[in-house]
Amino acid sequence: MVHSDVSARAMTNDQQESVVRPEFSPEDSSGAVRPRRLADFVGQSLLCSNLETFVSAARQRGNAMDHALFYGPPGLGKTTLAHIAAAELDVNIRITSGPALVRAGDLASVLTNLEARDVLFIDEIHRLGPAVEETLYPALEEYELDLILGEGPAARAVRIALQPFTLIGATTRLGLVSTPLRDRFGIHLRLDFYGVEELAEILLRAAPRLGCPLGAAGAAEISRRSRGVPRVAIRLLRRIADFAEVEKAPEIGQDLADRALRALEVDEMGLDSLDRRYLNCLAEHYDGGPAGIETLAAALAETRDALEDVVEPFLLQRGYLQRTPRGRLLTRFAWERLGRKPPHRQPEHPRLPL
Ligand code: ADP
Repeated sequence: MVHSDVSARAMTNDQQESVVRPEFSPEDSSGAVRPRRLADFVGQSLLCSNLETFVSAARQRGNAMDHALFYGPPGLGKTTLAHIAAAELDVNIRITSGPALVRAGDLASVLTNLEARDVLFIDEIHRLGPAVEETLYPALEEYELDLILGEGPAARAVRIALQPFTLIGATTRLGLVSTPLRDRFGIHLRLDFYGVEELAEILLRAAPRLGCPLGAAGAAEISRRSRGVPRVAIRLLRRIADFAEVEKAPEIGQDLADRALRALEVDEMGLDSLDRRYLNCLAEHYDGGPAGIETLAAALAETRDALEDVVEPFLLQRGYLQRTPRGRLLTRFAWERLGRKPPHRQPEHPRLPL
């Protein structure tokens, strides 16, 4: 059974409009394409086989599984895997998020409602406030909750015993999870970008459930241009299905996929308009960098989080961008892709003439 408290995610207008931004989309919640079991989950094979082992061990012992931290860019399947872990453990899952747990009392009410061995999923766990985080520590270690009831002289401390449970935390920013919290997770699992074949398989499995007439060549074309992210691939498929519908096309083949993706401003490398704005801004205004992230965010009128969570991981992974202590720097590959000439740089410490 799934209880959903809230899913608070901040989006800018630009992000909401873009079809290749992999933040949460309302379409995810329909659950139509979410795999429900490990056996149906495509990709992340090492992670899945490890998770299978941890689940089986917990089941055989009859214990709650150890707490697990899933990390990686948005849209790669962290929430999906949390649901799958609960299903494989045959327990309930309760869902909340870091920003939704404002006070220690919010956490207390969630924790006291858990049944033995249940999974509590906290999305965006790096956004938990310090007071809530402190309250969480004894709950994770000893399944106990220390609360202060009342205020001033009448305040008193109470200790509440909890049922053993499994916390699954998800984060796009491992670096922002405090060390004490990170250390309390016995299982750390990193999700990576998906390969083109894996994405094509995900799309071909999702298509009949979405009523999309997707052909193998169409699936391959969409996969190549989905920046390695299943959420992006599925969202693009839905939009391309609209083009197929209007054109009364019997099948989404490569040609239709290509035309629709161009209309959606997704280029043949999977870059969208914000990626291109980012790269062009760095090239035109900062000679390719180094430029600080705050400067770039201000220049593009985007939030720093949007750039760091979504735009940069893909550009870094594909070799367009380099992160240096002095800021972001375009690579030679990026200059080539942009069809521009890199400026002639003076060496930083020119040799003194002899
Ligand atoms: P995250 O929590 O990492 O942001 P989600 O778990 O919400 O990502 O996944 C986003 C969307 O992508 C969901 O619709 C989900 O069904 C789909 N998805 C993610 N990974 C897979 C996968 N391996 N196979 C099939 N669908 C996937």
